[in-house]
Amino acid sequence: MAAVPSAAFDLQRFASSGRPVGLRAVEIGADALLRLPDMVSAVSSADPVGRVAVLTDGVPKKRLGAEATALVTSLLSGTGDVRGVTVLSGPGGVHADERTVAAAAAAAAGASSLVTVGSGTVADIGKAVSARLGTAAHVIVQTALSVNGYADDQSVLLVDGVKRTTPTRWPDGLIADTQLLAGAPLPLNLAGVGDLLAMFTAPADWRIAHLLDMDDRYAGDVVAMVRDHGPALLRAAPLLRDRDPGAIELTAKVLTLSGVGMGLAGTTAPASGAEHTVSHLLEMAAAREDRPSAYHGAQVGVAAVLAALVWRHVRQRVRGGARVLRCPSDDQMRPAVLAAFSSLDPSGAMAGECWRDYQRKLARWRERHGQVDQLDPAQLDDAARLLEQPDVLRAALRRSGAPARPGELDPPVDAGMTRWALANCHLMRDRFTIVDLAVLLGVWQPADVAAVLAAAGIAGGGP
Ligand SMILES: [Zn+2]
Repeated sequence: MAAVPSAAFDLQRFASSGRPVGLRAVEIGADALLRLPDMVSAVSSADPVGRVAVLTDGVPKKRLGAEATALVTSLLSGTGDVRGVTVLSGPGGVHADERTVAAAAAAAAGASSLVTVGSGTVADIGKAVSARLGTAAHVIVQTALSVNGYADDQSVLLVDGVKRTTPTRWPDGLIADTQLLAGAPLPLNLAGVGDLLAMFTAPADWRIAHLLDMDDRYAGDVVAMVRDHGPALLRAAPLLRDRDPGAIELTAKVLTLSGVGMGLAGTTAPASGAEHTVSHLLEMAAAREDRPSAYHGAQVGVAAVLAALVWRHVRQRVRGGARVLRCPSDDQMRPAVLAAFSSLDPSGAMAGECWRDYQRKLARWRERHGQVDQLDPAQLDDAARLLEQPDVLRAALRRSGAPARPGELDPPVDAGMTRWALANCHLMRDRFTIVDLAVLLGVWQPADVAAVLAAAGIAGGGP
């Protein structure tokens, strides 16, 4: 068993610059799943392996016509004492919240190894369960190309109804079997492309945050290790419709690289900027009302187009003379945060959770820049070199058959909800994005939000 993921990932060169990669084995390819028993034995320090919990959800998953979870169980039957654990599910599907993680951990208690079979949310739960139980080994069998969160040590969990990236644990092994992935619903696989479109917006957010002293962890090599595959990904995406094995493999590899990059950087910032905050707000609204939301990655793809348009809008305003950065006071912003989130959660818990994080961001800005400062446009130009044009992103989504606008998501997101999510996305957490810069420059008024929505072709998004 290789000590590090396949040489194709070229992780060795990051070994000295980032944190250690806890992911010790990666198999990507047509028959990767068949190597699961060997991988579990190799990454588990227990010999024999002992009890293996197979964590999954109730969603059917097929590989060459066979039920994938049953296949996993049968493959592992010679390796250990296999026990199935099905995560809790409500009318809105599976939510990665404390109740679900606790129930899964209780059901898997006593297992020395954990094998998680599923897509992003189930993988997030699996990483949290393995951290909680301290299992000797955790192997994720990803069943869709849906997100980049399989290959890192963090989980997106719901805390007081708010999506929070929480340190959990690296999986020890990851399996991306292209014949299993080919059986995933196309919209779910296209969601992975959407999630990856964040590589064309989030790094610019991360870079400007770094240049403005709002993030200490910027790592250009982590950005490059994913971004270098951007053109290949945009070429591969339309081939996913035909279940092209090469396109599936390439997408799986880039998703893995993106996940590893987040783990190396110790932050999701290389792959998560303003586009993710917009998506998180849409997901929070859906979860709070216990209705399904569109796939995370599908929303991120659509929101990446919006984030690229916000960048364009801010750059235009800066070229037009907007340079003064004025930090609003806590007294101004606290009511804004309450107003944004109290309709979703009248108890105030969600608004309180958001305010705690947002207040930290304001405090850091004041500490580094005072109440009033001046933007150096050269810094904006520097960060903008990492962007892709909104039209290019939109065209890539269209060519692939993925949703390119909020109204095309399943279920669709209307103009009013889009306006709410875009206008308030910066208020949910302490990560600095282009939207925070727009606020400081005074160019995030209702008319600015409406201009971005109009440029996105979203009718009725005005104030
Ligand atoms: Zn994502």
